[in-house]
Amino acid sequence: MARPILTIDLNAIAENWRALDSLSAAHVTTGAAVKADGYGVGAAVAARTLSAAGCGTFFVATAPEAMEVRDALGSGAEIYVLNGAVEGLSEIVAADARPVLNARTDVEMALEFARQHETPLSCALQFETGMNRLGLSSAETEWLAQTDVSALSVQVLMSHFACADEAGHPLTREQITRFNELVPALRDRFPNAKLSLSATGGVLLGADAHFDLTRPGVGLYGADPFCDARPVIRLEAPILRVWDVKPGETSGYGATWTATRPSRLATLPLGYADGLPRSLSGRGEAKVGGRIVPLAGRVSMDLIVLDVTDVPDAAPGDMAVLLDDELTVDRMATSAGTIGYEILTSLGDRAIRRYKPSAVTDGKGDVSA
Ligand SMILES: *Cc1c(COP(=O)(O)O)cnc(C)c1O
Repeated sequence: MARPILTIDLNAIAENWRALDSLSAAHVTTGAAVKADGYGVGAAVAARTLSAAGCGTFFVATAPEAMEVRDALGSGAEIYVLNGAVEGLSEIVAADARPVLNARTDVEMALEFARQHETPLSCALQFETGMNRLGLSSAETEWLAQTDVSALSVQVLMSHFACADEAGHPLTREQITRFNELVPALRDRFPNAKLSLSATGGVLLGADAHFDLTRPGVGLYGADPFCDARPVIRLEAPILRVWDVKPGETSGYGATWTATRPSRLATLPLGYADGLPRSLSGRGEAKVGGRIVPLAGRVSMDLIVLDVTDVPDAAPGDMAVLLDDELTVDRMATSAGTIGYEILTSLGDRAIRRYKPSAVTDGKGDVSA
């Protein structure tokens, strides 16, 4: 079948989790973010792989994601919904998951829900320490201090770094200080709750960012800022056709590429509708016959063209490699002017997914050994 193939190395995901887990002390619980369909690799398979590696705490963004991960894992694992009560408390509870309460309105919704159902609602509370995105503001934190929240069973007290992936950024230090300032009162009030501040970047910062529970995501999938990560994904696509053009002939929409020598072009069946950034136009690269070759012209919706002049025996049916251990997610991200997170979460919708090893599957796409 002439389709792109995304191969996902599950052992690499497990190994990356173990490597990040080993960076914090034994008493620190290492969780895993599997939101956005497990950063594009498949949430159900990622969650099962991580669970088998020893992970018991998972973070997703939405209620449907929580349901998918619960279905994959069965009972037992803890699943937190980062976007909070607005995702629908009934849906979250139906998935046996826990909302992260990010605002006074979230807490009020949760209290109301717990009263109606006459059972304590397990949840996390997020506090704002500098990102100004989600979390209780200082005014809301004061309100919380004077509010009876005994209807909530608060399991996690968390905040999130804005700049943990930028070495030495002063906001990181400030956020650790602000979080530590909140801790004594919170520990008093919620003595059994875990404190959590760090995603991948924070895990790499060192012990004073680890607290009780970490939430790495992108590093598990082999991308920056975890530069020692094992690459997880490989993206290939078959050459559809090859032909020769004369100097002066152009390639693609807008005729932005012009042959400067007798050239050979190869067309591949993937484009921006497959999640390949259009900003790779004129700057992307791929590997054909083990050799790195440039894109010729723009990324179209469903196709790209490579300049394979230097690989004269390239032929239809040969696989071109877009991502591997050398052409990494972060290298593509740099060429495209974006970040590895966006590359990971964009790919995979149309590609055939293959898992290596194939012991677990999400029922989506092909699975091969
Ligand atoms: C996405 C996210 C994570 C995981 O972040 P990475 O940078 O991918 O490790 C952790 N915590 C929160 C609140 C998030 O939104």
